[in-house]
Amino acid sequence: MLSLVKTGQRGQMVVLTPVQKQRQAKRLAEAVPTLAAAYSQALGRWVGDPVLRLVGVPFITECYRSPERQNELYAQGRTKAGLVVTYKRGGQSKHNQGPPTPAMDVAFLLADGSVSWSGLLLSKFARLMKYADARVVWGGDWPSFKDRPHFEVLTDSSGKGGDGHG
Ligand SMILES: [Zn+2]
Repeated sequence: MLSLVKTGQRGQMVVLTPVQKQRQAKRLAEAVPTLAAAYSQALGRWVGDPVLRLVGVPFITECYRSPERQNELYAQGRTKAGLVVTYKRGGQSKHNQGPPTPAMDVAFLLADGSVSWSGLLLSKFARLMKYADARVVWGGDWPSFKDRPHFEVLTDSSGKGGDGHG
């Protein structure tokens, strides 16, 4: 199935630029320790896989999100153009907690330089995340609004519940 995705030229691994790496370190630092640790472990397994690492590398697109930005996303598909990407208003999403924040969104940087939200790649990464820590919840497992880029850990106060923003 992975042959659907082009691998890097000359079989080289996809690597982030120094600026991208810096941004990743900052976003990872926003996450609660359990989620950050699970991500680091899953990332390590991903780049340790001879096939997956040639396809692309996962990166965190967002961790903490301000309530203002959450409200902008909530407006999308309602009072603004676009598809509905969230059912949470500002302050209701796990992305709005912290930092430390118990949620993060993941995408992939592919060998050709493009960004992918491939459901196949995300489900593969989700397996690694859940393997790293059983407390990790993947938005792709939610029955109604599947939010495949989304990962979160259950926190004592918040209980279970979807975030859903895409
Ligand atoms: Zn999310």
